[in-house]
Amino acid sequence: MPVITKLKTTGIDWDHVISSLNGETWEPDFLEPDQYEVRYYFLGTVFTIMPSGKFYTPWANSNVTPCPYCHGSGCRQCGDMGSLEAYHDSLFMEALESECAAHGVLWGSGEGDPCDIFISECREISMED
Ligand SMILES: [Zn+2]
Repeated sequence: MPVITKLKTTGIDWDHVISSLNGETWEPDFLEPDQYEVRYYFLGTVFTIMPSGKFYTPWANSNVTPCPYCHGSGCRQCGDMGSLEAYHDSLFMEALESECAAHGVLWGSGEGDPCDIFISECREISMED
């Protein structure tokens, strides 16, 4: 099994995401509706996006497979996380963060379902009109 030390790209088709996002309607921001407006594009669920295809939290990750090298105790291959899946997911999230930043958008999970991942764009409401 090859050791992945750095995930370079998420594989997300950003041209598609950005053009889809551009087709979405701006909505008043939930927290500051007078100042900001946002629009969202549904990217998918963690089950389809994440390398492991699993939903878990750092404090309840019993459903991820333990690292075959260290069996969960932590080593270089798994970034000391004790699981290659969790490590690859964390590398994916890092790549997602930087790709979002490069495109001037944010990512977040759904309010109703934390497994839903959205790409969002926020702008200040123009006072001119
Ligand atoms: Zn390990």
